[in-house]
Formats: sequence, C-alpha cells, structure tokens
Amino acid sequence: MSRTIVITSGKGGVGKTTSSANLGMALAKLGRKVVLVDADFGLRNLDLLLGLENRVVYTALEVINRECKLDQALVKDKRQPNLSLLAAPQTRNKTSITSAHMKALVEVLSRYFDYVLVDCPAGIETGFQNAIAGAKEAIIVTTPEISAVRDADRVIGLLEANRIKDIKLIINRLRPKMVKNNDMMSVEDVLEILSVKLIGVIPDDEQVIVSTNRGEPLVLSENLPLAGIAYENTAKRLDGKEVEFLDLDAPRDTLLSRLQRWLTGNS
Ligand code: ADP
Ligand code: MG
Repeated sequence: MSRTIVITSGKGGVGKTTSSANLGMALAKLGRKVVLVDADFGLRNLDLLLGLENRVVYTALEVINRECKLDQALVKDKRQPNLSLLAAPQTRNKTSITSAHMKALVEVLSRYFDYVLVDCPAGIETGFQNAIAGAKEAIIVTTPEISAVRDADRVIGLLEANRIKDIKLIINRLRPKMVKNNDMMSVEDVLEILSVKLIGVIPDDEQVIVSTNRGEPLVLSENLPLAGIAYENTAKRLDGKEVEFLDLDAPRDTLLSRLQRWLTGNS
C-alpha cells in the first residue's frame, strides 16, 4: 500500500522543504521507493536542496498539460536510486493547475512508489489546497515559537476539514539550552497546544544550512550530525518502527570522552 503524505505548516520558513528532502532521502535509504513532489509552484526549492536542479527538464506542469510523459519528468537521484523528484514549474502563473489535477497526479504516482511526499507552499490559499488534494496523511512542521504553533493549529483544523485525519508533527529547530532557560517553548509546551502525534524533534543545527547550500541532504553525511540522526529516526517512526526520542541535551560523544571511558574501563 502506497502512502501519500503532504508536508505542511502554518508559518513559512519553518523547515518544510528541509524536512521533505531529508525524510525522502532517509526513507529511500531504508529501501522504500520514494517520490518527492514539489508543490511550491513558482519557487522551486526542493530541486536545489537535493542538488538536482540541473537535471530538471520537465516539471509537474508539463505532465498535467500532457506535454511530456510522467517518467520523462521524474528525476532520479544520482546518489540514491530509490528517490525520485517531480519538480515544480518556475512560472508564477499557477491558475491553470487545479486540485483535481494534483489529485490525479498523486494517484498515478502512488501506483509506482511506496511513499509520495508532497512539499507544500506557504499559506493556506490555492497552492495549499492543491498540495493537500491527493494526500491521505499530513506531517505538520513547526518551530517552537508561539506564532508558528498557533498557525500550525489552524492548519490542523483545515486539514481535518479536508478529510485528512492522520496528522503527525515535527518540531524543528529546537534549542535545548534556550528551553532550559525558559526562553523557548519545550516539546511538552508545543504538544499541549497541538494534540497530534509527535514523530520528530529536530535540533537547530548549522549543518542544516551547510547541507542546503551544498545541495546534499543532511542524512547523506558520513558523520551524521545530530539533526541528521533526528531525521533518520523520524523517517523510521514514519515507516512504523519504534524508535526512542534522542536526548538532545546529552553531551556529544567526543574523542576525549571516549578516551576517558576507555581509560576508566567504562566503554
Ligand atoms: P520552508 O520550506 O518551511 O519554507 P525551509 O526548509 O526552506 O522552510 O527552511 C527555511 C530555512 O531554515 C532554510 O534556510 C533552512 O536551511 C533553515 N533550517 C531549516 N531547518 C533547520 C534546522 N533544523 N537548523 C538550522 N536551520 C534550519
Ligand atoms: Mg519550502
């Protein structure tokens, strides 16, 4: 059974595209066949994050207009053949694409892939309605800020009104030190407002920005940074596995701490 999941948020800039790229890549690494659909028409972000921008010839628009075949528009990832991308057109003239088109497109894709992940644009207008049209599940991304959480709550209401009841939550850009000093909402604070199932907590990590600029999702790094491990764990939970949440506060395993453990025989 194929799963069709829209990755959305209330507020913009909270990490939808970052989460789409990393979850897609992590699921592909688990052996699932994944297609990422960029529904942020007019902006085209996902292809850049994946470093696939030079290989995009056709987009969802040409498929919908029957100007090319679906497989001509699907860009296979060079590093991970289980992952494909359907890019968004750069044109801002989005009026020609309707919810019905998007629904049909996602339905066709779901015949060929285990996961169809749709990266949603910001806002709750046409672009949002189109992005959710074919999805049966949703992942809400929020940062631990009250404005983002409030907007996420409104979007959860909208999703439910659109018959999407299976909604999961990713809390992104958490900074444990700030939480400790009561300068940031904690995971519990967020969950008190949003009563949906938590599947991921991603720390704020400058490696995310480095990987964005390189066009290489974090989960492909050799020495997985904490945010990369958090994304891998999120993907496993999404895939139905029980994985404990990371203690983001724990000191990292440094060479010195390993040496100390070795010397004291506590390895
Ligand atoms: P959206 O798709 O919701 O607009 P993006 O995924 O484009 O958001 O992320 C917005 C910005 O935030 C990007 O510059 C991205 O690199 C940065 N970002 C996202 N997640 C993190 C994180 N966990 N730590 C640090 N920076 C992040
Ligand atoms: Mg985005």
